[in-house]
Amino acid sequence: MDKTLLAKVRDCITAGRKFVLTTHVNPDGDGLGCEAALAAWLTDLGKDVHIFNSSPVPANYRFIDPDKLMMVYNRDLHREILLSADYIMILDISDWKRLRELGEDARGAAVPKICIDHHPPQDKFVDIKLVDTSACATGEIVYDLLKFAGAKITRRIAEALYTSIITDTGSFRFSNTNIRSFRICGELVEIGISPQRIYQNVYEHQPLSKIRLFAHALNHLKLEDKGRVAWFDITKEVLVEKGANTYDTEGFSDYPRVINGVEVSIMFIEMDEGKFKVSLRSRGNYVINGIAQKYGGGGHPYAAGIMIEGNMKEYIPRILEEVSYLFND
Ligand code: AMP
Ligand code: MN
Ligand code: MN
Repeated sequence: MDKTLLAKVRDCITAGRKFVLTTHVNPDGDGLGCEAALAAWLTDLGKDVHIFNSSPVPANYRFIDPDKLMMVYNRDLHREILLSADYIMILDISDWKRLRELGEDARGAAVPKICIDHHPPQDKFVDIKLVDTSACATGEIVYDLLKFAGAKITRRIAEALYTSIITDTGSFRFSNTNIRSFRICGELVEIGISPQRIYQNVYEHQPLSKIRLFAHALNHLKLEDKGRVAWFDITKEVLVEKGANTYDTEGFSDYPRVINGVEVSIMFIEMDEGKFKVSLRSRGNYVINGIAQKYGGGGHPYAAGIMIEGNMKEYIPRILEEVSYLFND
C-alpha cells in the first residue's frame, strides 16, 4: 500500500473530530467489518463516530456492532450530522449509486470524503482514495492503515477485521485469497479472537426462511453452454412466499460453482420498484466484470454485480447470451 496515501489518511484521522462511516447498500461482512474496526479505533482515539448505511445490519453480522452504532440512514434525522462531519469515510465501495440517499446527500457536500476500497476505481469518486485492487478485502487495507498509524489492534478490532477477510475470501477459498489473508488472520487469531465463534455468528445464524429460499433456488437451477453456466432467478413473489428478504440471498450466487464443469454462475433477484439485481461469479477462467460494466454494474474480475431497472424476465436471455460469448464457440 502506498505510504504517502496511508500517511494522508492517518493525518486526516488525527486532525478530524467527527467522522461518519458508511458502506454499500445490502452490506456484507467486509463493509460492516471495516465500519466496526474503524469505529472501534476512532472511539479509542476519543473521536465522535457515526455509522449510517442504506440497509439494516443482517442478523448474522449484529455481533460486530455490540453498541448498536450502525443506523439506517434517514435524511430527516441524520443529514445534519452527515453534513457537519469533519470526514465521511466510504468503505468497500467506489460508486455513488450504491450509497443511495446518503450518497446523494454526501456527493455535493463540502465535507471531505475518504474512500477505502478494493474495487476497481471509478472516475471522479471522492477526494482521497485509499484503493488497492489486489487486497482480498477492504478489511486488509483497514488493517494496513491501523498498522501504519500504530494503532493498538484490540480484540474488538481483530474480530471485525477477521470477519471482513473471511467473508470476502469465502473463508480462504476464493481466488482473492493470498498469503497476506492468512498472515493477517494469523495475527488476529494471536490477539485472542475465536475463529469458531465468528464462524458460528456469521454462518450458523441464518433464518429458516433463507434456507427455504436457497432450497428453492437450487431446485430451479438451470444449466447452459454445455454445463459451463449455472443460473437461477428469484422473483419478488417467491421472496414473499418464503418470508425472505433480498439480503437473505447473500452467498447464494457463489454456490453453483461447486458443480463440476460450471465456469460461471448467475443469480437474478427481483427487487422493489421494477428493478432487479444480477450477481455474476466465475471460477477464475473467465473474467465477468466487463459484462457487469456493460450493463451499468461493476465489481471484481471473478465476482461482479449489476442493478438493472427493467423487466427481469426480458433481460435474462440477453445476459445469458452475453455470458455465452465468453466461451467463443
Ligand atoms: P454481489 O453480487 O452483490 O455479491 O457483488 C459482487 C461484487 O460486485 C462486489 O464486489 C460488489 O461490490 C460488486 N457489485 C455488486 N453490485 C454492483 C453494482 N450494482 N454496481 C457496481 N458493482 C456492484
Ligand atoms: Mn462488499
Ligand atoms: Mn469487499
